[in-house]
Amino acid sequence: MAQAKSGLPGLTIRNVRPLGGAASDVHVRDGRIAASADNAEIVDGGGALLLPGLIEGHTHLDKTTWGAPWHRNTIGPTRAERIAHERDWRVATNHDAEARSLALARAFLANGTTRMRAHADIDPSIGLRHVHATQRTRESLGGIMDIQIVAFPQSGIVCQKGVADMMDAALAGGADVVGGIDPCSIDRDPVRHLDVVFGLASKHGKPVDIHLHETGEMGAFSLDLILERTEALGLVGQVTISHGFCLGTLPVAECDALLARMARVDMRIATTAPAGIPVPTLAACRAAGVTIYGGNDGIRDSWTPYGEPDMLDRAMHIGLRNGLRRDDELEWALECVTSAAAVGCGFAGYGLAPGCRADLVLVDAETVAEAIVRRPARRLVVAGGRVVVRDGILVV
Ligand SMILES: [Zn+2]
Repeated sequence: MAQAKSGLPGLTIRNVRPLGGAASDVHVRDGRIAASADNAEIVDGGGALLLPGLIEGHTHLDKTTWGAPWHRNTIGPTRAERIAHERDWRVATNHDAEARSLALARAFLANGTTRMRAHADIDPSIGLRHVHATQRTRESLGGIMDIQIVAFPQSGIVCQKGVADMMDAALAGGADVVGGIDPCSIDRDPVRHLDVVFGLASKHGKPVDIHLHETGEMGAFSLDLILERTEALGLVGQVTISHGFCLGTLPVAECDALLARMARVDMRIATTAPAGIPVPTLAACRAAGVTIYGGNDGIRDSWTPYGEPDMLDRAMHIGLRNGLRRDDELEWALECVTSAAAVGCGFAGYGLAPGCRADLVLVDAETVAEAIVRRPARRLVVAGGRVVVRDGILVV
């Protein structure tokens, strides 16, 4: 078999239906989708549905217990209690963020996720340990899975000594995105919190992704401050609001006004579409021209027993949360874990066109909607031009 310059053999997958369209062949050469591939391995696609590699737009690899014994969850009802509980739990269980994050990332890969944005905790008790653990997982999966790392101040910035400097060091050392969290309710000092976040973004020239759980007027106030800075600094397409629950709880006119401002600076929303709290809807975001994309948030960690490392499963939750029934509406849910997530996170070379990175997923389903509601095993997954899953089994 001919070796291309990437060292990877060429690949042709015969008889697949891109996004449910007409049957065709797809070719892979040098890790990218190509118009043809000479001397390639030939795989029979069997008329399966072809999807681009799935994208997890918001998760926390470093927190998970994936692959370890079941964690008996005993957390309290408030966010502050859950943050404190997690810090104690990490010590009590001698949590191995590197081993667990790698186990979870591989489970994502087995289900066709080839790109991901992972928030990694930074606080005084762990310093940069979780950032480094996530970086080692990224290195282990180099060339296969594209992992962005967010320097995430889970316990706050202003109220936690040294966190701003730790975030600075993380960003200098390879973290890709500046994180933030609830500027009013965690730090109780939104101006100083955002001074640090946007100061680091300017210093390092990196995008921003802020967890905003705050609801109602408090969330609207924080979002207004974030918008003011984004507008003043001209950070068009550089800022994501994760969750943005306030956009599900405000009066419609107020919500629409905020979404219109977000659209003008191309500010994005990452949603988990949780069942238990109002959220910004796909319909409102699409009408306003705001990119909204999907993520699990934490999976099987000290915060939550829920979550599956399968972005088709997350797409189903997005569909359920948004009342999507029609096949064409469920394609919006797929966009949240494919093309919209690529835009939202800034992943380049994404899609099924020649020249794009060869991240391909084959499932036995008639349409995108069927793939989402049935979530069949992945028949074949190609990541960076390499076959990583055959017949549902991870082979790397
Ligand atoms: Zn999160």
